[in-house]
Amino acid sequence: MSPLFDLTGRTALITGSARGLGYGFAQGLAEAGAKVVINARNTEQVAQAVAQLRAQGHDALGLPFDVTDEAAVDAAFASLDQQGIEIDILINNAGIQHRMPLVDLELKDWQRVIDTNLTSAFIVGKQAAKRMIARGRGGKVINIGSLTSEAARATVGPYTAAKGGIKMLTRAMAAEWTEHGIQANAIGPGYMATEMNTALLQNPAFDAWVKGRTPARRWGRADELAGTAVYLASAASDYVSGQIIYVDGGMLAVL
Ligand code: NDP
Repeated sequence: MSPLFDLTGRTALITGSARGLGYGFAQGLAEAGAKVVINARNTEQVAQAVAQLRAQGHDALGLPFDVTDEAAVDAAFASLDQQGIEIDILINNAGIQHRMPLVDLELKDWQRVIDTNLTSAFIVGKQAAKRMIARGRGGKVINIGSLTSEAARATVGPYTAAKGGIKMLTRAMAAEWTEHGIQANAIGPGYMATEMNTALLQNPAFDAWVKGRTPARRWGRADELAGTAVYLASAASDYVSGQIIYVDGGMLAVL
């Protein structure tokens, strides 16, 4: 492996990494040498993901907490401090969807989507960056956006607002943290075959629409985002900050 992409000796916290894209990020970073901290609310799924990664010979540990609960996030970072575990790489990946036209959407559902997809990146990012700045060794923050960071789709209003917010929050983080050697960037995945899209994958009309509109003519897989995450987590991207990289089989090019 080129030393540019070597993550040996680094520790990465990936939120929402017990399955789906988050697990793919964890596996990719672990294969590049990082110790990975697996998070989600479901403790059983977290334990399973940790066991799977360890069975592959990787260094992994579980840290279940709710990314929308500031007290729980603070407690999770305090427990890392107590164990002497320092986070060098943070991927703010936890996210949810709630499909509903804006005129029918209830405020509590708007709030839940904004809290999980956008506010969480601030809450968790703040705790990670505070420690990175105090240590003075820099670090990497990677936020997960979406094609909706760039273009709106009907029935996913709060998700679109949150992912648009992720693009600008990434720039705000870059504006404040890059001088401390912390690069903040984002990844915008296209349509990926994960549990979040179960209903859409099973809908023949939607499946045909995705395949028809994506120049790659297929859905993406979680492992196809790992290379971009390794790049943004590594020394190879040390002068890259405030960017969002779309990994979408070419969809944004024709959207
Ligand atoms: P999944 O639904 O498959 O996985 C989401 C993960 O996040 C789960 O592990 C879930 O675990 C966790 N999670 C959800 N809410 C919270 C919470 N409050 N606190 C902690 N963990 C939480 O989704 P994907 O893997 O598909 O999506 C991952 C990210 O990628 C999301 O930000 C999503 O918006 C984004 N994305 C996905 C695309 C796709 O096509 N799949 C496209 C573009 C972006 P648990 O419920 O146990 O907490």
